[in-house]
Amino acid sequence: MAIGVKVVERPDREASYLRASLKGMALTFSHIFRPKVTMQYPEDKSAPDWSISPRWRGTHRMLTDEQGRAKCVACGLCPQICPSNCIKLVPGEDENGNRYPLIYEIDEFRCIFCGYCQEVCPEEAIHVGVHYENSEYDRSRFVYDLERLCAQTHAVSTLWDPSDPKGA
Ligand code: SF4
Ligand code: SF4
Repeated sequence: MAIGVKVVERPDREASYLRASLKGMALTFSHIFRPKVTMQYPEDKSAPDWSISPRWRGTHRMLTDEQGRAKCVACGLCPQICPSNCIKLVPGEDENGNRYPLIYEIDEFRCIFCGYCQEVCPEEAIHVGVHYENSEYDRSRFVYDLERLCAQTHAVSTLWDPSDPKGA
């Protein structure tokens, strides 16, 4: 396909920028009368028009059973599938042969929030969450251990929006 090239000639006399400046100022001025699209974060984040998609994939959460124990059965699928290799799992087994995580950690800094861990989990234990405010002063704080993952209370991601399955 041929590419069209537009040659712009340099002006051969001194140009006045007054007209362009006035045009720019008029455009700026016209915005004064338009509805505001910005909001005062974080004060306004609870405003009715502030919402995150239910398929948002953020800070992880480990769901627990009625006794408050992590639902994870240490099957090993999530660390296996994790493309970032950011899940550390050391499985244990009780006297009845039930497996559980002795150590379960997720490095939220390395995570790319793909959601594979949630998709693959047979117990629906580990979830990515509808949450993003997890800034820290120390990098080590981004490694969430089992206790911290279980203590999260934010909503878990649906990964896809049932009302908008194509994600338009
Ligand atoms: S969301 Fe993806 S990258 Fe993050 S821990 Fe889960 S599988 Fe790994
Ligand atoms: S996939 Fe689920 S049950 Fe298996 S190790 Fe991961 S969190 Fe635990």
